[in-house]
Amino acid sequence: MPFLSDAVSRLAPSATVAITQKARELAAQGRDVISLSAGEPDFDTPEHIREAAKQAIDRGATRYTAPDGIPELKAAISRKFQRENGVDYDPREIMVSTGGKQVIFNALLATLGPGDEAVIPAPYWVSYPDIVRLSGAAPVIAPTQAADGFRLTPDALEAALSPRTKWLILNSPGNPTGTVLSEADLAGLAEVLRRHPHVWTLCDDIYEHIAHPPARFATLAAVAPELRDRVLTVNGVSKAYAMTGWRIGYCGGPVALVDAMRKLQGQSTTNPCSISQWAALAALDGPQDYLSDARAAFARRRDLIVAGLNGAAGLSCPTPDGAFYVLPSCAGALARVAPSGRAMADDAAFCAELLDAEGVAATPGSAFGAEGRFRLSYAASDATLAEACARIRRFCATLR
Ligand code: PLP
Repeated sequence: MPFLSDAVSRLAPSATVAITQKARELAAQGRDVISLSAGEPDFDTPEHIREAAKQAIDRGATRYTAPDGIPELKAAISRKFQRENGVDYDPREIMVSTGGKQVIFNALLATLGPGDEAVIPAPYWVSYPDIVRLSGAAPVIAPTQAADGFRLTPDALEAALSPRTKWLILNSPGNPTGTVLSEADLAGLAEVLRRHPHVWTLCDDIYEHIAHPPARFATLAAVAPELRDRVLTVNGVSKAYAMTGWRIGYCGGPVALVDAMRKLQGQSTTNPCSISQWAALAALDGPQDYLSDARAAFARRRDLIVAGLNGAAGLSCPTPDGAFYVLPSCAGALARVAPSGRAMADDAAFCAELLDAEGVAATPGSAFGAEGRFRLSYAASDATLAEACARIRRFCATLR
């Protein structure tokens, strides 16, 4: 449509939103649908956090705030970076946004334009390439291998860099792979980055608290402090504290970048929700026992779904170290005929037929740069996961 901007025409509709919507429509028609396509914890936000929000409303903390967040929350974020990551970020180097997604949006839109490149390891979170494209810059996809646990290797990074590269985007624990980059992995990448001083790194640490031992979360600003002046550390409360709907994300980074991001945010959403900011403060400063409870539940569910999927003919599911997704290969089920009588050419067809035949909503891997795979979120009850696995096994057993 000629009325639409070039920028928006470059955007692909979100594949995860599309499949979740299709699942909702089928459920509305009375179908028994299990949707494992969305990326959010199924737990309630802990009570002390909800309570802090209610109190904020009652004492009238309901007005515009500073565009980059209330000073109390920025101070709590500074403490969090120090306590959990061993990184010092002064409140001037910190900003709060409407979700980690807006942080990333601000950072990329404040820095990228036509002619620039951003390196994104694949499989990747669907939004990175689209936000890069929206800026007019080009995403450069750096492949990783399942055999390497989907880790970006120093050689693959080196090969993806060019004089036009402005950003490397790292996401660990990763969506959709669950890959957790170790200190040694990050040190190897830092070695390459040191040789390319024009390249900045955006570390998306949003799944920090969902890493299962022996894997251990690490972040670049701590592992390679000498790169700190060109690292943006992105985090948020959505996934850690079951607060996806509250929309609070934050970052620590160089003042000049944070100032530019604040300017951009001031002309878009003005400030993140005042009430949610007080809730996020309670999350960061309050009791942290929710984190280990949630992590234990996710570890149990991961083992349940990995075992359940590996029992399905034609599927092969690696065990992820973190986040709450699995990314099984369906290569062994492709080119076969589904119960509908249609042959399945690719992962998108596999997911469409699975939803049609068994009412299980999964996201095609091609949306994440992971062709021949599909993503399931295991942020669902054990019973739901067991039923989903049983249906997937039945589906795979009927393929001809
Ligand atoms: N980064 C990754 C890798 C994600 O998977 C998500 C959400 O799905 C986000 C960032 C954004 O999270 P939020 O905007 O809810 O903080």
